[in-house]
Amino acid sequence: MTPLKDHLIKRIEATGPMTLAAYMAECLMHPTYGYYQKQAVFGAEGDFTTAPEVSQMFGEMLGLWLADRWIKMGRPDPVNLIELGPGRGTLMADILRAVAPVEDFSAAVQVHFVEASKQLRAAQAERVPNADWHDTLAQVPQESGASAPGEDGVPSLIIANEFFDALPIHQYEKSGGKWVERMVGGMNGELALVGGPCGPQFSLVSERVKAGPEGSIAEVCPAALSVIGDIAERLNAQGGAALVVDYGYRKTAAGDTFQALQRHEFTDPFSAPGEADLTAHVNFEMLKTAAAEKGLNVFGPTMQGMFLMAIGLGARAQVLAGQGDDAFSANILADLKRLTATDQMGTLFKVLALQPHELAPPPGF
Ligand code: SAH
Repeated sequence: MTPLKDHLIKRIEATGPMTLAAYMAECLMHPTYGYYQKQAVFGAEGDFTTAPEVSQMFGEMLGLWLADRWIKMGRPDPVNLIELGPGRGTLMADILRAVAPVEDFSAAVQVHFVEASKQLRAAQAERVPNADWHDTLAQVPQESGASAPGEDGVPSLIIANEFFDALPIHQYEKSGGKWVERMVGGMNGELALVGGPCGPQFSLVSERVKAGPEGSIAEVCPAALSVIGDIAERLNAQGGAALVVDYGYRKTAAGDTFQALQRHEFTDPFSAPGEADLTAHVNFEMLKTAAAEKGLNVFGPTMQGMFLMAIGLGARAQVLAGQGDDAFSANILADLKRLTATDQMGTLFKVLALQPHELAPPPGF
């Protein structure tokens, strides 16, 4: 039994079953036993590999996209470069290296990381020492403090790769003609799903999904909507752009996407809480609708493979491949394939851009 399992079972015995969202939040973010407090979660020895950990080219292309946005914004100085859930800090390190030749941009950038895990903050500080860390996006300063309040707003460039999939979801199931919330209960020392009354977040489920057949599963992620709200508030007030990359689906639909990954294999999300990564696929339609309702201009979601090729990944791979021996160039081409092929990360992963209406449309869509 993991220490977290023991703690959760005691809690359930005392106060009853907990929502899946509360369970996910405890498993990922518990300050001592949470998954993201573990040392090795990323890469070959860890549990999963993300695009920036596959290849430096991913961060380089995003860096050029961000530099283009900054130029179209009129080269503001200072500008916040904010990353949500930066993992090991690899993506930001690659971005900063790629934009170094854009001298005024590098000098204007103030890097802010929104990161809940103390362990990962330490890993990020090794790769990007000159960053500031925050618990939430709302805490990132929006003013430079150089002149009177309200007169010195700082615009923000915001990126999030595989951040939204880690945000807690609620699940509901249509059972006996009515909807119940899927809760985590404890029985004989084991955790298991049980049905309970639907909490208030059930109102976020679409009417179309609610009308679905017996046995349908509905998912909603209120935390994602609240992050989109914070992004919109910031971009509307101070200007900027946001780029969200994640695995997920384009159109709202019924279905169970809750999953646990350990050592690159799917596993039971309830057997060893705190030991496996828990995620859900991102509902891009919900993000898009929320952003548009807040007045933002929305681009995508487009597929990661198409986005990266449209902004020049093919040319970048060719240049890099030419810089080493045959084995090196074979590796570069394998990485290119991993990021873009339809049977790999190319179509499951999607890219969404959000920005105020006055900013020129972004490349890649
Ligand atoms: N972007 C990185 C890491 C993805 S893993 C990459 O692509 O490699 C998810 C990241 O989000 C981790 O850094 C995790 O600690 C962070 N995270 C997850 N939920 C969070 C939350 N609610 N608040 C802040 N950070 C969170």
